[in-house]
Amino acid sequence: MRRLTFSFVLLYFTVCLSENVASPIQAFVIPHSHMDVGWVYTVQESMHAYAANVYTTVVEELSRVKHRKFIAVEQEFFRIWWDTVASGQHKKQVRQLLRDGRLEFIIGGQVMHDEAVTDLDDAILQLTEGHGFLYETFGVRPRFSWHVDPFGASATTPVLFALAGFHAHLISRIDYDLKSNMQKNKGLQFVWRGSPSLGEKQEIFTHTMDQFSYCTPSYLPFSNMSGFYWNGVALFPDPPKDGVYPNMSVPVLDSTLEPYAQTMVDNIKQRAQWFRTNHLLWPWGCDKQFYNSSVQFSNMDVLVDYINQHSDKFGVTVQYATLSEYFQAVHQSNLTWEVRGDQDFLPYSTEPFQAWTGFYASRNILKGVARKASSQLHAVETLFVRYHISYPEGPVTTDWALEKLRALRWAVSEVQHHDGITGTESPKVADMYMEHLTQGMMGVEELLAAIFLLPQSLGTFQNMHKLQPDLSKDLEQHIIVYNPLAWNITTYINLTVTFPMALVFDESGKAVLAQIQEKANSTSEYDLFIVAELGGLQFRKYLIKFSSCPGSTRCGMTYTAKLVKFGRRNINQWRRTGRKLLPIFSDCHKLLFDQETNLLHSITDRHKQRKVRITQDFWEYESNGDVHKGPISDNYIFSTNTSAVPAYKAVSMEIIPGKVISEIRQYFYRDLKDEDYAYSVVTRVPTGLKDKHLCQRLEQRYSVGPLVVNREVVLMTRTGLKNNRTIFTDNNGYQMMKRTYKAFANNSIPRNYYPVVRTAYIEDDSSRLVVLTERAHGVSSQSDGQLEVMLHRRLWNNQEWNRGYNLTLNDSSVVQPVLWLMLGSAAATASLYHREALELQHRPVVMAIGRPQKPWKQQEPWTSPPVRPVVLPSNLHLQTLSVPGWAYSPNHTKNQQNMEPGKNQPVPDYNRILLRIMHLYETGEDPELSKPTTINLKEVLQGIGEVKEVRERSLTGTWDISDLQRWKWETSGEIDKNDGVRNFDGVTKDFSVTISPKEIRTFFIHFK
Ligand SMILES: [Zn+2]
Repeated sequence: MRRLTFSFVLLYFTVCLSENVASPIQAFVIPHSHMDVGWVYTVQESMHAYAANVYTTVVEELSRVKHRKFIAVEQEFFRIWWDTVASGQHKKQVRQLLRDGRLEFIIGGQVMHDEAVTDLDDAILQLTEGHGFLYETFGVRPRFSWHVDPFGASATTPVLFALAGFHAHLISRIDYDLKSNMQKNKGLQFVWRGSPSLGEKQEIFTHTMDQFSYCTPSYLPFSNMSGFYWNGVALFPDPPKDGVYPNMSVPVLDSTLEPYAQTMVDNIKQRAQWFRTNHLLWPWGCDKQFYNSSVQFSNMDVLVDYINQHSDKFGVTVQYATLSEYFQAVHQSNLTWEVRGDQDFLPYSTEPFQAWTGFYASRNILKGVARKASSQLHAVETLFVRYHISYPEGPVTTDWALEKLRALRWAVSEVQHHDGITGTESPKVADMYMEHLTQGMMGVEELLAAIFLLPQSLGTFQNMHKLQPDLSKDLEQHIIVYNPLAWNITTYINLTVTFPMALVFDESGKAVLAQIQEKANSTSEYDLFIVAELGGLQFRKYLIKFSSCPGSTRCGMTYTAKLVKFGRRNINQWRRTGRKLLPIFSDCHKLLFDQETNLLHSITDRHKQRKVRITQDFWEYESNGDVHKGPISDNYIFSTNTSAVPAYKAVSMEIIPGKVISEIRQYFYRDLKDEDYAYSVVTRVPTGLKDKHLCQRLEQRYSVGPLVVNREVVLMTRTGLKNNRTIFTDNNGYQMMKRTYKAFANNSIPRNYYPVVRTAYIEDDSSRLVVLTERAHGVSSQSDGQLEVMLHRRLWNNQEWNRGYNLTLNDSSVVQPVLWLMLGSAAATASLYHREALELQHRPVVMAIGRPQKPWKQQEPWTSPPVRPVVLPSNLHLQTLSVPGWAYSPNHTKNQQNMEPGKNQPVPDYNRILLRIMHLYETGEDPELSKPTTINLKEVLQGIGEVKEVRERSLTGTWDISDLQRWKWETSGEIDKNDGVRNFDGVTKDFSVTISPKEIRTFFIHFK
């Protein structure tokens, strides 16, 4: 239905103009402090230098003078302040200020998460963590966002905020020329339908900050000090003893009052022209502000009063406001807003040569550990739910378990910060995140050990499944393998062992198919691959017996695979390639490797009999680090004048044909005479397995580094696909964006770079090449058929600011990311890649256990034969299953009563299970899998226990879904009547629920 008519357009312009002319501009001065949860300084340093003082002084100053207001954004600092700094009096004052609506929590997440390189599961986690705290502590549920600093905006974020019940979203950092156009056309505000499948059901009003962004104008025509910051600049490591900070704005005195007022009014008027209503959001604050609020407010109070006393003359009124007051005013204007579809705002450039696309690949190791920690958290959360429901009074106490889980929830939340997982922080802050993540992981390993009654030192995740039994007395090893996904899977598990032959048996004593071979670069270690069949959320036990089978290539069900070496090939001696080709087969593919070059030559899709030429190698960009010689690359920015060049002179190869997998190892040498290789790829092709998922999977493990300084290295995949430089990349693992190549006058290479979080692909009419990843990278298609993945960066520059803050990214590490490749028709890959991406992210957890004292059958029930699986249909993903341990009543009225003075805080409800299920497909993406899917939660969860009660909640759990009434914003343009989109149906009496494309549904479950 088309609602926009010509007469309507005229009417709407009349309304809009008359409003602007008739009334004075109403400026909403929103006091705020942008507090990065790690960037240059650690959280601890920031608390000490300013963050604690922000909350202490703001609470005191607001309590003193009644018209002052403040918005609190990042919860991590607030929670630390609340738990460790705030006095009883402060706590009372906070509760009063919240009741009065003068202190307002915005976003409510632990951090202001990055939007480009975060996975949606982690974005949801950090929001849930913060919201749970706010609701149980204050009964408060944030409804507005304030994403003022993430480097570009993803289309997934508005969807998540809508699902969390937000009324409006706010962004700031978008491409400079786009923002300037939007200002001119008064298009900074719109209604965003971030998901094509959810459409208007999850649309959200979005405000883009103007060119001044979230700080006040820094230029004062009458003073050489910067503007409107009367508390100056925070001082590290310690606040000054005398309370005097550097670079404080000149005070508001009789002599400066008029020029201050004029400057502020001029700025308000300039900015008001870019908006359709006469309300202007005037953020008052910046990074690390308000740690000395009395000085801030006492100056601004005078200015605000003065402008209001002369509002006739100025044509402007000003008021302290919270963000909700501003959005309420805009909402009440009843204007009709333009609709934006599911396009994101990535990449982000601030100037022609300042493309913020480097951070997609900065600090690869931190990006990898952050995701690994997230998968580990998911695995242990789901396992603990199983344990807790089966053994509520078991020896693992819930308080202790939650303490471990919460530490990791906190660490995974923290690193989602926009200067965290992005890799744009100083080295000591990167170390802080790593420390918190590692500590958190060690804690949940203790929990795992306790659940399975294992020895404490598991080393499950850190040591890459290395098994070293004491061979002098023990020639066998028991392992437990857990599948953290709610699907039945067939996969191979890779263990490092120190014995050249091993037989594997399952818990019933049946021999299991396995393969053993020499490990790369080792003479004493071996790779053991075990074929494992695991039910959803199921763990199984295997027995590995180390034995010898001299001379044989097969021992029971275990095959020994032998390595064939291919000598170094120098690239300057390549002759005609394609003459001597070595085939490697899986059920789905035939890969050909070229003996002339030792490179991949082509892959044939055996089902469709389509051959695609594919070459893979490593190329690098040489970046400039001298500010006097032009634009530089740094941890944020990727800048290059020249195209990438091959980063090696010779390649050697080893092939290990096998019965479970065949492995191809390629080593790339920077120089002909180098002994050590600079890069390597290990490709694993599943050769003996018929499983349709596994068969499509080509696993590649890379080793890259240490790099030469000022090099940015890409895995270059050149194919025969006619993709016309179009690449598809995901937004946070949630949805795919089509990226057509854009030619710019300058800086085209960096400006055509995009983040990949889980999935990217290129395609033509016949084939699609999909790349799945377990950590974020930068990706691009710079020429026809080409797909490059930036895997690592090492940079140094002489810019004073960068060097002063140690932000040059001199990252000398060796990085070892993993990609899974899929090649097939668009239809074949579309039916598999969502699930494959999750299988890569959530690989089975392997736990080594000491030799049991008693035979298995006589052990505790928890460690006896396989538990019942929990299985969802292929298109539904069990995103969350955890014991949140919140101390709040899910009934809002009751929860509010509990907040009243004198009432006791309710105790945590350990029997409330948080369940999230996501539909992986877009409408129309697959003929079968895109259908709305009905499941019965009672049946699905029967493997865990008997469901007694199911309540549907908002994304972060704080709202009963039926109470969630979001503001409606009038929109212009066509209403997209998409039949695939349905209202949330709720849950039937017998606990059935229908989940439609791209829905994420959140439930509280109680078991009997
Ligand atoms: Zn920031």
